[in-house]
Amino acid sequence: MTHVAVVGAGPSGIFATAALTERADVRVDVFDRNPTPFGLVRYGVAPDHLKIKSVVRTLHKTMSHPAVTFRGNVALGQDLTLDDLQREYAAVLLATGAPCARRLGVPGEELPGHVSASMLVDWYNSRPAARKADCAERVVVIGAGNVALDIARVLLRGGRGLAHTDVTDMVLQALNRNPVRDVRVLVRGGAADTKFTPAELTELDKLPDLDIVVDPGELMLTDDDRSRCETDRTVAARVETFRRWSTRSRTGARRSLAFRFRQAPEALTGASRVESVLLRGGERVPADLVVSAIGYRGDPLDGVPFDDRLGHIPHVRGRIGPGLYTTGWAKRGPSGVIGTNKACAIETVAGLLADLPVDSRTPDIDTVLAANAARVVTWPGWLAIDQAEISLGRQTGRTRTKIDDLDRLVEIGSEGGRT
Ligand code: NAP
Repeated sequence: MTHVAVVGAGPSGIFATAALTERADVRVDVFDRNPTPFGLVRYGVAPDHLKIKSVVRTLHKTMSHPAVTFRGNVALGQDLTLDDLQREYAAVLLATGAPCARRLGVPGEELPGHVSASMLVDWYNSRPAARKADCAERVVVIGAGNVALDIARVLLRGGRGLAHTDVTDMVLQALNRNPVRDVRVLVRGGAADTKFTPAELTELDKLPDLDIVVDPGELMLTDDDRSRCETDRTVAARVETFRRWSTRSRTGARRSLAFRFRQAPEALTGASRVESVLLRGGERVPADLVVSAIGYRGDPLDGVPFDDRLGHIPHVRGRIGPGLYTTGWAKRGPSGVIGTNKACAIETVAGLLADLPVDSRTPDIDTVLAANAARVVTWPGWLAIDQAEISLGRQTGRTRTKIDDLDRLVEIGSEGGRT
């Protein structure tokens, strides 16, 4: 048996694990800094996107494979080093994602009341130790990707609209206490340049008591936009949705969602916290909360090369160097949908398996973890957490309620792992 270490138990790490377990002579140890598996599916995908979250069933099956061992609550660089992994395993595959926010790079960015998408998403997805967000009546979201749409939709749904999901009661109560009434999405390019996918846009039509506002004057298409609409159905569908919204009159709904095009932020302004976004043309858009949803970057890891300009690990078809590989957003940056990571993992694993030496040593990584006093959560430990969250949800008629207290998760996970 040859042992491979995978760092990151999100979809990309687990898709890679699935590809590795197709070889009967390979065993895979999967590490994650969270005590829980599934990474972005648990803490990134919006809580109301239950269909996307159902990929968990496939991921669960891979992690239950007899050749796979999960060690959660183990952080690379803290509980073990890359050297430890490279010493103990025949190959190491990094699937650590792109967890860092990109900077807006405008004055006022540091003002309270401005948060990155990752901070807000961590909060509403009940990630342990996430900073609590102050919800507010008027929200500006900067960015034109699906994360910006997730944020607008989740905030506009409010606590009542999320009551069937797995978020904590604290999140539901915070959203109910300070209901969001007015969301403006600022797009620096035109409607044709946006990265919104058509299905995510039309999903907004289903939100109750909401006026979606688009100024026809801002929808002007350039010649290039028009020819892209002719050759690219996705671009055409996006533009058509905005055109449809631009012809609507306001209904007097309690809440509104406005898309503003060709509106680049020049500064965030306010005395002691954000009060408005100053646009390049001089207009001030009032806001109590500003969220920048402008993409993510990888987190540089000790001993691993990092392309600071692109924000991910440099590689050739997933190979970083001898015995060291990468997949998912750590490899190619934050792009694509969850399924995109499957083909990405298959490419990396093909190269890894072609290079893999026969190595019959059994890794002694638990000695390293014990020496560092790591409180490891194993797969049975996760199953205990899973049951605890399902039971908690049942108390309020939900399928699950997440536990967001890290110590509690580790406590349940460690006890569950012993039984
Ligand atoms: P994204 O799709 O790359 O969108 C980022 C947006 O931010 C772009 O529109 C970009 O505009 C804009 N931007 C960048 N810098 C800016 C600045 N300084 N000022 C103003 N705007 C700026 O990233 P994302 O929304 O974070 O999504 C990441 C990935 O996850 C994507 O592949 C997305 O499709 C996926 N995702 C999918 C779903 C789903 O399927 N439901 C949900 C969430 C996320 P420019 O184009 O002008 O650079």
